[in-house]
Amino acid sequence: MRLHYMQLPREVIVGTGIVGGIGEVCSKLGFSGNVLIVTGPKMLTLAQGDLRSSLEEASFSIDYLTVEDSTMENVLRAQERIDHDRPSVVVGFGGGKDIDVAKLSSANMKVPFISVPTTASHDGIASSHASIKGLDRPYSLRGQAPLAILADISVISSSPYRLIASGCGDIIAKYTAVRDWRLAHKVKGEYYGDYAAELALMSARLVMRNAGSIKSLSESSLRTVVEALISCGVAISIAGSTRPCSGSEHIFSHALTMTAPRPALHGEQCGVGAIMSAYLQGANWRLLKNVLSRIGAPTSSAELGIEARYIVEALTMVHRLRPERYTVFGERGISRSQAERLARRTGVIP
Ligand SMILES: [Zn+2]
Repeated sequence: MRLHYMQLPREVIVGTGIVGGIGEVCSKLGFSGNVLIVTGPKMLTLAQGDLRSSLEEASFSIDYLTVEDSTMENVLRAQERIDHDRPSVVVGFGGGKDIDVAKLSSANMKVPFISVPTTASHDGIASSHASIKGLDRPYSLRGQAPLAILADISVISSSPYRLIASGCGDIIAKYTAVRDWRLAHKVKGEYYGDYAAELALMSARLVMRNAGSIKSLSESSLRTVVEALISCGVAISIAGSTRPCSGSEHIFSHALTMTAPRPALHGEQCGVGAIMSAYLQGANWRLLKNVLSRIGAPTSSAELGIEARYIVEALTMVHRLRPERYTVFGERGISRSQAERLARRTGVIP
Protein backbone atom coordinates (compact mmCIF):
# COMPACT_ATOMS: atom_id res chain seq x y z
CA MET A 1 0.00 0.00 0.00
CA ARG A 2 1.25 3.49 -0.83
CA LEU A 3 2.19 5.66 2.11
CA HIS A 4 -0.45 8.27 2.85
CA TYR A 5 0.73 11.26 4.85
CA MET A 6 -1.71 13.34 6.92
CA GLN A 7 -0.82 16.50 8.78
CA LEU A 8 -3.52 17.68 11.16
CA PRO A 9 -3.92 20.60 13.59
CA ARG A 10 -3.01 19.69 17.18
CA GLU A 11 -5.05 22.26 19.08
CA VAL A 12 -8.36 23.63 17.81
CA ILE A 13 -9.93 26.23 20.07
CA VAL A 14 -13.28 27.77 19.18
CA GLY A 15 -14.90 30.14 21.66
CA THR A 16 -15.68 33.69 22.68
CA GLY A 17 -12.93 36.06 23.80
CA ILE A 18 -10.17 33.49 23.32
CA VAL A 19 -7.69 35.62 21.34
CA GLY A 20 -6.31 36.62 24.73
CA GLY A 21 -5.30 33.00 25.29
CA ILE A 22 -2.74 32.90 22.48
CA GLY A 23 0.24 33.37 24.83
CA GLU A 24 -0.81 30.40 26.93
CA VAL A 25 -1.36 28.26 23.81
CA CYS A 26 2.11 29.14 22.48
CA SER A 27 3.75 28.34 25.83
CA LYS A 28 1.81 25.07 26.10
CA LEU A 29 3.03 24.06 22.66
CA GLY A 30 6.59 24.58 23.88
CA PHE A 31 7.45 27.80 22.05
CA SER A 32 9.53 30.61 23.54
CA GLY A 33 11.34 33.75 22.39
CA ASN A 34 10.06 35.46 19.25
CA VAL A 35 6.66 35.26 17.57
CA LEU A 36 6.10 36.71 14.10
CA ILE A 37 2.54 37.94 13.52
CA VAL A 38 1.59 38.18 9.84
CA THR A 39 -1.50 40.34 9.45
CA GLY A 40 -3.30 42.80 7.16
CA PRO A 41 -2.99 46.60 7.50
CA LYS A 42 -6.59 46.85 8.81
CA MET A 43 -6.02 44.14 11.40
CA LEU A 44 -2.77 45.51 12.81
CA THR A 45 -4.47 47.58 15.54
CA LEU A 46 -6.50 44.56 16.60
CA ALA A 47 -3.34 42.41 16.60
CA GLN A 48 -1.67 44.96 18.83
CA GLY A 49 -4.47 44.64 21.39
CA ASP A 50 -5.35 41.36 23.13
CA LEU A 51 -3.06 39.25 20.94
CA ARG A 52 -0.03 41.31 21.86
CA SER A 53 -0.74 41.63 25.57
CA SER A 54 -1.36 37.90 25.87
CA LEU A 55 1.94 37.06 24.14
CA GLU A 56 3.85 39.65 26.19
CA GLU A 57 2.39 38.31 29.41
CA ALA A 58 3.72 34.90 28.43
CA SER A 59 7.18 36.50 27.90
CA PHE A 60 7.23 36.40 24.11
CA SER A 61 8.71 39.20 22.04
CA ILE A 62 6.68 40.08 18.96
CA ASP A 63 7.50 41.11 15.41
CA TYR A 64 4.81 42.19 12.95
CA LEU A 65 4.63 41.90 9.21
CA THR A 66 1.69 43.46 7.36
CA VAL A 67 0.71 42.12 3.96
CA GLU A 68 -1.92 43.57 1.62
CA ASP A 69 -2.31 40.52 -0.56
CA SER A 70 -1.40 36.84 -0.85
CA THR A 71 1.22 37.19 -3.56
CA MET A 72 4.46 35.24 -3.94
CA GLU A 73 6.29 38.54 -3.39
CA ASN A 74 4.74 38.78 0.07
CA VAL A 75 5.52 35.13 0.79
CA LEU A 76 9.18 35.87 0.00
CA ARG A 77 9.07 39.01 2.17
CA ALA A 78 7.73 36.91 5.03
CA GLN A 79 10.46 34.32 4.49
CA GLU A 80 13.11 37.05 4.71
CA ARG A 81 11.59 38.23 7.98
CA ILE A 82 11.51 34.69 9.35
CA ASP A 83 15.14 34.27 8.33
CA HIS A 84 16.05 37.55 10.06
CA ASP A 85 13.86 37.47 13.20
CA ARG A 86 14.11 33.70 13.81
CA PRO A 87 10.64 33.35 15.39
CA SER A 88 9.80 30.06 17.11
CA VAL A 89 6.30 30.24 15.59
CA VAL A 90 4.48 32.29 12.95
CA VAL A 91 0.93 33.48 13.68
CA GLY A 92 -1.38 34.30 10.75
CA PHE A 93 -3.96 36.80 12.00
CA GLY A 94 -6.64 37.92 9.55
CA GLY A 95 -9.21 36.99 6.97
CA GLY A 96 -7.32 34.69 4.65
CA LYS A 97 -4.64 36.44 2.62
CA ASP A 98 -2.52 36.99 5.71
CA ILE A 99 -3.13 33.41 6.84
CA ASP A 100 -2.13 32.10 3.41
CA VAL A 101 1.12 34.10 3.44
CA ALA A 102 1.90 32.98 7.01
CA LYS A 103 1.11 29.35 6.12
CA LEU A 104 3.27 29.08 3.01
CA SER A 105 6.23 31.17 4.21
CA SER A 106 6.43 29.29 7.53
CA ALA A 107 6.19 25.93 5.72
CA ASN A 108 9.00 26.93 3.36
CA MET A 109 11.16 28.05 6.31
CA LYS A 110 10.25 24.97 8.40
CA VAL A 111 8.75 26.98 11.26
CA PRO A 112 5.37 25.99 12.80
CA PHE A 113 2.34 28.14 12.15
CA ILE A 114 -0.80 29.06 14.11
CA SER A 115 -3.99 30.26 12.44
CA VAL A 116 -6.04 32.99 14.13
CA PRO A 117 -8.88 33.83 11.72
CA THR A 118 -10.72 37.13 12.12
CA THR A 119 -13.51 36.05 9.80
CA ALA A 120 -14.96 32.86 8.35
CA SER A 121 -14.78 33.48 4.61
CA HIS A 122 -13.13 30.25 3.34
CA ASP A 123 -11.61 26.94 4.39
CA GLY A 124 -8.01 28.20 4.09
CA ILE A 125 -8.20 29.17 7.79
CA ALA A 126 -7.69 25.51 8.68
CA SER A 127 -6.33 23.72 5.61
CA SER A 128 -2.81 22.74 4.66
CA HIS A 129 -3.06 24.55 1.31
CA ALA A 130 -2.51 28.22 0.49
CA SER A 131 -4.05 30.17 -2.34
CA ILE A 132 -1.40 32.46 -3.82
CA LYS A 133 -2.15 35.08 -6.46
CA GLY A 134 -0.27 35.90 -9.63
CA LEU A 135 1.09 32.41 -10.33
CA ASP A 136 0.62 30.67 -13.67
CA ARG A 137 -1.51 28.03 -12.00
CA PRO A 138 -4.85 29.13 -10.62
CA TYR A 139 -5.03 26.81 -7.64
CA SER A 140 -3.61 26.41 -4.18
CA LEU A 141 -0.14 25.30 -3.17
CA ARG A 142 0.68 22.88 -0.40
CA GLY A 143 1.88 24.70 2.70
CA GLN A 144 1.40 23.12 6.09
CA ALA A 145 -1.53 22.47 8.42
CA PRO A 146 -1.72 24.95 11.30
CA LEU A 147 -0.34 23.48 14.53
CA ALA A 148 -3.16 25.30 16.34
CA ILE A 149 -6.29 27.19 15.31
CA LEU A 150 -7.79 29.84 17.57
CA ALA A 151 -11.18 30.90 16.23
CA ASP A 152 -12.59 33.69 18.35
CA ILE A 153 -16.34 33.94 17.71
CA SER A 154 -16.55 37.48 19.14
CA VAL A 155 -13.88 38.69 16.68
CA ILE A 156 -15.46 36.79 13.76
CA SER A 157 -18.98 38.08 14.54
CA SER A 158 -17.81 41.66 14.11
CA SER A 159 -16.46 41.00 10.60
CA PRO A 160 -18.65 42.03 7.63
CA TYR A 161 -21.56 39.60 7.10
CA ARG A 162 -20.70 39.34 3.40
CA LEU A 163 -17.49 37.49 4.33
CA ILE A 164 -19.34 34.98 6.51
CA ALA A 165 -21.97 34.38 3.79
CA SER A 166 -19.07 33.81 1.39
CA GLY A 167 -17.62 31.22 3.77
CA CYS A 168 -20.99 29.43 3.66
CA GLY A 169 -20.77 29.42 -0.16
CA ASP A 170 -17.34 27.78 0.10
CA ILE A 171 -18.78 25.12 2.43
CA ILE A 172 -21.88 24.43 0.29
CA ALA A 173 -19.53 23.98 -2.70
CA LYS A 174 -18.35 20.70 -1.10
CA TYR A 175 -21.71 19.21 -2.18
CA THR A 176 -20.54 19.33 -5.82
CA ALA A 177 -16.80 18.96 -5.13
CA VAL A 178 -17.31 15.52 -3.56
CA ARG A 179 -19.57 14.45 -6.46
CA ASP A 180 -16.82 15.46 -8.91
CA TRP A 181 -14.28 13.52 -6.87
CA ARG A 182 -16.47 10.37 -6.94
CA LEU A 183 -16.86 10.77 -10.69
CA ALA A 184 -13.08 11.07 -11.18
CA HIS A 185 -12.63 7.94 -9.08
CA LYS A 186 -15.14 6.04 -11.23
CA VAL A 187 -14.02 7.33 -14.63
CA LYS A 188 -10.29 7.85 -14.08
CA GLY A 189 -9.54 5.51 -11.19
CA GLU A 190 -8.35 8.48 -9.15
CA TYR A 191 -7.64 7.93 -5.44
CA TYR A 192 -10.80 8.53 -3.42
CA GLY A 193 -11.04 8.66 0.36
CA ASP A 194 -14.45 8.04 1.88
CA TYR A 195 -13.56 9.58 5.23
CA ALA A 196 -12.32 12.88 3.79
CA ALA A 197 -15.28 13.01 1.41
CA GLU A 198 -17.83 12.38 4.18
CA LEU A 199 -16.19 14.99 6.40
CA ALA A 200 -16.49 17.63 3.68
CA LEU A 201 -20.09 16.60 2.91
CA MET A 202 -21.03 16.69 6.57
CA SER A 203 -19.89 20.33 6.75
CA ALA A 204 -22.05 21.18 3.73
CA ARG A 205 -25.05 19.39 5.25
CA LEU A 206 -24.65 21.15 8.61
CA VAL A 207 -24.57 24.60 7.04
CA MET A 208 -27.53 23.73 4.79
CA ARG A 209 -29.52 22.59 7.80
CA ASN A 210 -28.75 25.79 9.70
CA ALA A 211 -29.16 28.11 6.69
CA GLY A 212 -32.09 29.96 8.23
CA SER A 213 -30.26 30.97 11.40
CA ILE A 214 -26.86 32.06 10.06
CA LYS A 215 -27.98 35.63 9.34
CA SER A 216 -28.83 36.07 13.00
CA LEU A 217 -25.08 35.86 13.76
CA SER A 218 -25.89 34.02 16.95
CA GLU A 219 -22.96 32.40 18.71
CA SER A 220 -24.20 28.90 17.92
CA SER A 221 -24.76 29.56 14.20
CA LEU A 222 -21.34 31.20 13.82
CA ARG A 223 -19.80 28.29 15.64
CA THR A 224 -21.42 25.93 13.11
CA VAL A 225 -19.90 27.88 10.20
CA VAL A 226 -16.45 28.08 11.81
CA GLU A 227 -16.41 24.41 12.79
CA ALA A 228 -17.61 23.43 9.30
CA LEU A 229 -14.75 25.42 7.74
CA ILE A 230 -12.27 23.77 10.11
CA SER A 231 -13.64 20.30 9.20
CA CYS A 232 -13.20 21.15 5.51
CA GLY A 233 -9.59 22.14 6.18
CA VAL A 234 -9.07 18.85 8.03
CA ALA A 235 -10.68 16.94 5.10
CA ILE A 236 -8.05 18.51 2.80
CA SER A 237 -5.28 17.50 5.19
CA ILE A 238 -6.61 13.92 5.39
CA ALA A 239 -7.00 13.59 1.61
CA GLY A 240 -3.57 15.16 1.07
CA SER A 241 -5.10 17.34 -1.65
CA THR A 242 -7.91 19.85 -2.03
CA ARG A 243 -10.03 17.23 -3.88
CA PRO A 244 -12.77 16.80 -1.22
CA CYS A 245 -13.31 20.56 -1.08
CA SER A 246 -12.64 21.78 -4.58
CA GLY A 247 -14.28 20.53 -7.77
CA SER A 248 -15.58 22.11 -10.97
CA GLU A 249 -17.35 24.87 -8.99
CA HIS A 250 -13.93 25.99 -7.68
CA ILE A 251 -12.34 25.85 -11.13
CA PHE A 252 -15.26 27.96 -12.39
CA SER A 253 -14.51 30.47 -9.62
CA HIS A 254 -10.82 30.59 -10.60
CA ALA A 255 -11.82 31.11 -14.24
CA LEU A 256 -14.14 33.93 -13.23
CA THR A 257 -11.38 35.59 -11.21
CA MET A 258 -9.18 35.45 -14.31
CA THR A 259 -11.76 36.86 -16.74
CA ALA A 260 -14.10 39.20 -14.83
CA PRO A 261 -12.80 42.77 -14.44
CA ARG A 262 -14.18 42.91 -10.90
CA PRO A 263 -14.43 39.40 -9.43
CA ALA A 264 -16.56 38.69 -6.37
CA LEU A 265 -15.35 36.81 -3.26
CA HIS A 266 -14.00 33.26 -3.54
CA GLY A 267 -16.87 31.58 -1.65
CA GLU A 268 -19.52 33.70 -3.40
CA GLN A 269 -18.28 32.56 -6.81
CA CYS A 270 -17.92 28.93 -5.67
CA GLY A 271 -21.51 28.94 -4.40
CA VAL A 272 -22.84 30.13 -7.77
CA GLY A 273 -20.57 27.63 -9.52
CA ALA A 274 -21.96 24.86 -7.32
CA ILE A 275 -25.52 25.60 -8.51
CA MET A 276 -24.43 25.04 -12.14
CA SER A 277 -22.16 22.05 -11.40
CA ALA A 278 -25.02 20.41 -9.48
CA TYR A 279 -27.26 20.86 -12.54
CA LEU A 280 -24.72 19.05 -14.74
CA GLN A 281 -24.30 16.35 -12.10
CA GLY A 282 -28.05 15.72 -12.07
CA ALA A 283 -28.01 16.67 -8.37
CA ASN A 284 -30.41 18.93 -6.49
CA TRP A 285 -29.26 22.35 -7.76
CA ARG A 286 -32.48 24.01 -6.61
CA LEU A 287 -31.69 23.04 -3.03
CA LEU A 288 -28.26 24.72 -3.24
CA LYS A 289 -29.78 27.85 -4.76
CA ASN A 290 -32.44 28.00 -2.10
CA VAL A 291 -29.95 27.53 0.75
CA LEU A 292 -27.58 30.18 -0.62
CA SER A 293 -30.34 32.73 -0.95
CA ARG A 294 -31.60 32.02 2.57
CA ILE A 295 -28.09 32.68 3.85
CA GLY A 296 -27.91 35.88 1.80
CA ALA A 297 -25.12 34.67 -0.50
CA PRO A 298 -25.28 35.48 -4.25
CA THR A 299 -27.04 33.04 -6.60
CA SER A 300 -26.85 34.99 -9.88
CA SER A 301 -24.55 37.07 -12.06
CA ALA A 302 -26.44 40.21 -10.99
CA GLU A 303 -25.91 39.43 -7.30
CA LEU A 304 -22.25 38.68 -7.94
CA GLY A 305 -22.01 42.03 -9.73
CA ILE A 306 -20.47 40.28 -12.73
CA GLU A 307 -21.80 40.57 -16.29
CA ALA A 308 -23.41 37.46 -17.77
CA ARG A 309 -20.85 37.15 -20.58
CA TYR A 310 -18.02 36.54 -18.07
CA ILE A 311 -20.04 33.76 -16.42
CA VAL A 312 -20.48 32.08 -19.82
CA GLU A 313 -16.83 32.55 -20.71
CA ALA A 314 -15.67 31.08 -17.37
CA LEU A 315 -17.92 28.02 -17.84
CA THR A 316 -16.24 27.27 -21.20
CA MET A 317 -12.81 27.38 -19.49
CA VAL A 318 -13.44 24.90 -16.65
CA HIS A 319 -12.06 21.78 -18.43
CA ARG A 320 -8.91 23.61 -19.58
CA LEU A 321 -7.69 25.31 -16.40
CA ARG A 322 -6.88 22.19 -14.47
CA PRO A 323 -6.92 19.26 -16.90
CA GLU A 324 -5.60 16.76 -14.34
CA ARG A 325 -8.63 17.40 -12.13
CA TYR A 326 -11.43 15.47 -13.84
CA THR A 327 -14.93 16.87 -13.21
CA VAL A 328 -18.47 16.68 -14.55
CA PHE A 329 -17.36 19.08 -17.31
CA GLY A 330 -15.39 16.16 -18.78
CA GLU A 331 -12.29 16.41 -20.91
CA ARG A 332 -13.91 18.45 -23.67
CA GLY A 333 -15.81 20.92 -21.52
CA ILE A 334 -18.94 22.66 -22.73
CA SER A 335 -19.53 24.95 -25.70
CA ARG A 336 -20.55 28.59 -25.45
CA SER A 337 -24.16 27.80 -26.31
CA GLN A 338 -24.27 24.94 -23.80
CA ALA A 339 -22.78 27.28 -21.18
CA GLU A 340 -25.42 29.90 -21.91
CA ARG A 341 -28.17 27.34 -21.63
CA LEU A 342 -26.77 26.00 -18.34
CA ALA A 343 -26.47 29.45 -16.78
CA ARG A 344 -29.94 30.44 -17.99
CA ARG A 345 -31.71 27.27 -16.86
CA THR A 346 -30.30 27.61 -13.37
CA GLY A 347 -31.26 31.29 -13.28
CA VAL A 348 -27.65 32.40 -12.88
CA ILE A 349 -27.95 34.68 -15.92
CA PRO A 350 -31.17 36.28 -17.19
ZN1 LIG B 1 -12.67 27.20 -1.43
